[in-house]
Amino acid sequence: MRDFAYARAGTAESAVRTLADPATSVIAGGTELLNWFRLGIAAADNVVDIGGLDELRGIASDGDDLRIGALATLNEIGEHPLVTQAAGALASACLQAASAQIRNRATIGGNVLQRTRCPYFRAEEPLPWPCNKRDPGSGCTSLAGRHERQAIFGWTQDCVAVQPSDPAVALAMLDAQADVLGPAGPRTIPMREFHLTQREAADAGQPMRETRLEPGELITGYRLPASADGQAYVKVRERASYEYAIVSAAAAVRLDPVLPGACGAGRIAAARVALGSVAQRPWRLTLAEAELPGTPLTREALIPVIERAMADAAPLPQNGFKVTMARNAAVRALLTAGGAS
Ligand SMILES: Cc1cc2nc3c(=O)[nH]c(=O)nc-3n(C[C@H](O)[C@H](O)[C@H](O)COP(=O)(O)OP(=O)(O)OC[C@H]3O[C@@H](n4cnc5c(N)ncnc54)[C@H](O)[C@@H]3O)c2cc1C
Repeated sequence: MRDFAYARAGTAESAVRTLADPATSVIAGGTELLNWFRLGIAAADNVVDIGGLDELRGIASDGDDLRIGALATLNEIGEHPLVTQAAGALASACLQAASAQIRNRATIGGNVLQRTRCPYFRAEEPLPWPCNKRDPGSGCTSLAGRHERQAIFGWTQDCVAVQPSDPAVALAMLDAQADVLGPAGPRTIPMREFHLTQREAADAGQPMRETRLEPGELITGYRLPASADGQAYVKVRERASYEYAIVSAAAAVRLDPVLPGACGAGRIAAARVALGSVAQRPWRLTLAEAELPGTPLTREALIPVIERAMADAAPLPQNGFKVTMARNAAVRALLTAGGAS
C-alpha cells in the first residue's frame, strides 16, 4: 500500500475543484478504491473524502421523480419505502448485492464506478500476465484463457470483461439519470448510456474507457421517474449471498386491464427489460420491449421474444451457456414483474 494524503471535502464544488489534479481521487465508502490501491489497479497522491457532504445524501420524492443521493448506501436504498414502492427492481438489486456489512458502507455513487471482477484484471501487482485495462497494449489474457464469466455482447479482441454492478442494471432499466457536477457545471447522463461496451469505447477512439463520466466529474445523485409498473430483479449466482451475478435481469411490466369474464394469462401493455453481467454495460433488450405489448405473460410466449432480441449475442468459446441463462433470467424477471410467478 502506498502513502496518500487525506482530506475531507467541505462542499461538492470544492471536491470537484480538487479533482482538477489527476493525482487526486474522491473516496465515498472506500469498498472499491482501497482494494484498487492494495492491488495496484489505481494509485493517488491525494484522497478527498466526500462522505461528509449532506447535499449528496438522502432519498426523496421530487414531483414525479425519485431522487437518490450519491452517498445513499445500498442498504438504505434497498430498505427505503419510496424505493420499494416506486423502483422495486432497484431496491431488490441493492439488497442482492455484496454482503450486509458491505451494503452498509457501499454507496450507489461508487457502485456504478466499480471495475470488472475479471480475475486477470484483479491480480496483485506486479501483474503476472497481460491485461489491457492494467497495461494498455499488453493484450487480453482472458480471451485465450478462462472466460466463462465474460461478455456475450459488445466485447472486442482487446477486452472481454463485464461490468458487475447489480444496481446499474435496474437504473438502466428504469431510465434513471445520473446527476453529475463537473468543472463546467452540472449535467445529466442517462444511466442506459452511462457505461460503454468495449466496442463503443473503441469506436470512440478510447478502447479502455468504461463510462461517459469525464475525469474530474462527481456523481451527485440519480433521478428516476416513479413507476407503478410491477418490477423484479433476478440475479443468478453460484451461492445465495455475497456473490456477484453470473447473469442478471431487471424488468418492469404493466399488464392490460383484464376484461370481465376473460380467462387465461394477462397480456402485456408495456415492458422494459435489461440484462446484467453480459457486457461492459447493462444490456437493454429494446427489440423485446417493442415486441412485448400484446404478448401473453407466459413463459412459452416470452421465450421467442427474448431470443429474437438476443439474436446478436456473440458468446466466447466457454460462455455459450450465458446466452440461455440470460434468456431465462429475462423471462423470469418479466413473469415475476407481471405477477405470474
Ligand atoms: C466483497 C465485495 C462484494 C461485492 N459484491 C457486489 C455485488 O454482488 N454486486 C454489486 O453490485 N456490487 C458488489 N460490490 C461492489 C460494491 O457495491 C462497491 O464496491 C461499492 O458500491 C462502491 O461504493 P463505495 O462508496 O465504496 O466506492 P469507493 O470505493 O469509495 O469508490 C469507488 C470509485 O468510485 C469513485 N466515486 C465514489 N463516489 C463517487 C461519486 N459520487 N462521484 C464520482 N466518483 C465517485 C471513487 O473515486 C472510486 O473511483 C462488492 C464489493 C465488495 C468489496
